[in-house]
Amino acid sequence: MEPNDTVFVHDDKARMGRRCPQCGETSITTCSHHHTFTYGSGDTAATLEVDLPLRRCGACDLEYLDHEGERLKHEAVCRHLRVLSPAEIRGIRKSLGMTRAVFAEITGLGEATLNRWENGAVVQNLANDRYLRLLALPEIMDRLKALTTFQGFLSEPPGNLKFRVLAVSAERLLSQKRFQLRKAS
Ligand SMILES: [Zn+2]
Repeated sequence: MEPNDTVFVHDDKARMGRRCPQCGETSITTCSHHHTFTYGSGDTAATLEVDLPLRRCGACDLEYLDHEGERLKHEAVCRHLRVLSPAEIRGIRKSLGMTRAVFAEITGLGEATLNRWENGAVVQNLANDRYLRLLALPEIMDRLKALTTFQGFLSEPPGNLKFRVLAVSAERLLSQKRFQLRKAS
């Protein structure tokens, strides 16, 4: 099988015991497959190489790559572009102990966008990649939390404008998201 003919298979069942996507049998073996592929086009096209787990069905001889191979291929692209991989992005967020919703609220990133980066559906651009790297620094995150708290208070009625709460809970951040500034009529 030529490397670029290799079929990627989306099969959730593969997570609990591998099953052939063609015949359903479970006698699946795995071997390392040196995969070469082109990324980009024109002057920026690059040939990338990565070792992928190639599955083979003992019953029908089908050879295929599953989500694991797809993930490794995506990681090779991220390494080539010198940007954080999906696992690294998720790692930054998790090391801060934040859900995607809270992380999105504090950083100003879109939750859906963050989801796509963490799942490898889209690669973040260079500016966002650098922003994400800064977010791994606790002092940067503390500044952003303070800013989010401050902006949250600005959107409350003037009578409640007191700067007494320094720490802000995840629930509070989400509830503040619903406030909007409106022009006085
Ligand atoms: Zn099979």
